[in-house]
Amino acid sequence: MQRDFGVSPEDLSCVVKILLSGQIVALPTETVYGLACLALDEFAVAKVYKAKQRPANDPLIIHVSDLRETKLVCRPDQRAISLIEAFWPGPLTLVLPKNRIVPPIVTSGLSTVAVRSPAHPVFRKVLNLVNAPLAAPSANPFGKVSPTKAEHIKQSFGDEHPPVVNGGPTQIGIESTVVDLSSKRARILRPGPIDVDAISAILGEELEIPKVNGTCDKFKTPLSPGLLAKHYQPESPLQIFSNNEDLMAYLKSEPSIPAATYVITHSPLNEICFPSKGLKFMHLSETGNPAEIAKNFFAILREVDTHSPPRILCPLLPDTGIGSAVNDRLRKASYKD
Ligand code: AMP
Ligand code: MG
Repeated sequence: MQRDFGVSPEDLSCVVKILLSGQIVALPTETVYGLACLALDEFAVAKVYKAKQRPANDPLIIHVSDLRETKLVCRPDQRAISLIEAFWPGPLTLVLPKNRIVPPIVTSGLSTVAVRSPAHPVFRKVLNLVNAPLAAPSANPFGKVSPTKAEHIKQSFGDEHPPVVNGGPTQIGIESTVVDLSSKRARILRPGPIDVDAISAILGEELEIPKVNGTCDKFKTPLSPGLLAKHYQPESPLQIFSNNEDLMAYLKSEPSIPAATYVITHSPLNEICFPSKGLKFMHLSETGNPAEIAKNFFAILREVDTHSPPRILCPLLPDTGIGSAVNDRLRKASYKD
């Protein structure tokens, strides 16, 4: 079976055939790579859960091309329509009351469904050719680091990896903002590239920001599955610092940092300051720009993790805009039970 695809019309038409036959395919989106399948085919959806080893109580996001497809799967209210007009296509997921056409496996039996319209031209092309909604969670084994390049999928799943469409590195690099509109007060279930303030400006109301829930228990449905404390975890332990200054102070004063510990910084660092510690350094951006940090974050975390360091150290970003969304990933990636 062919597993590596480009974005030529011939390749995409093969990929569409694979999807229409009920199989799964990893596709680029503007956020991270998604593991796509026909959202209304429960057998295809089961294959996504199996490939990801995703607990059955963690529902999927359905990707749609337009408002017509949105209305096929859910019932958008006026608030949803205003957010759709403002931010779609783009990295905003809305949780809305679901329609019966959506099989329960997609929503883990919930009466709501998560829906978004992606902006990536390749994903949109495939959506249009398939002419049906596609479920597409991030294309990584459950709980692990998300993929932002086609090779990350091969790295995670090995030789038997699902078919992958290589659309190059993803532009945004972290997952969509998830907003729950299923009850009276709108709630942020996952911070992301679309800022909370931009959403509340459109809605004309403050959003509720619930606390994280704890770890995933396979036998319970968490209050809100998007609020797990532990996610995006590298194999090596990640230790976070509240800011760059705290990290620098730690590096200078702590005598017992193991050799070959990896230090991930926001921008390049003068390594000469830490001569004899045997530390390794990687930076997330040339300039410390938060959008660039978000774009590179998962790829750098993966690259560092391939060296199996005894520890990975990384400071949080200033807690605004996309910085807050990266911090959410850093906190969950470093969470210890
Ligand atoms: P991903 O697996 O990266 O695509 O993430 C999808 C996110 O959306 C997860 O955090 C899910 O828990 C969340 N989600 C999907 N459907 C729902 C829903 N109906 N209600 C609440 N959260 C949802
Ligand atoms: Mg994910």
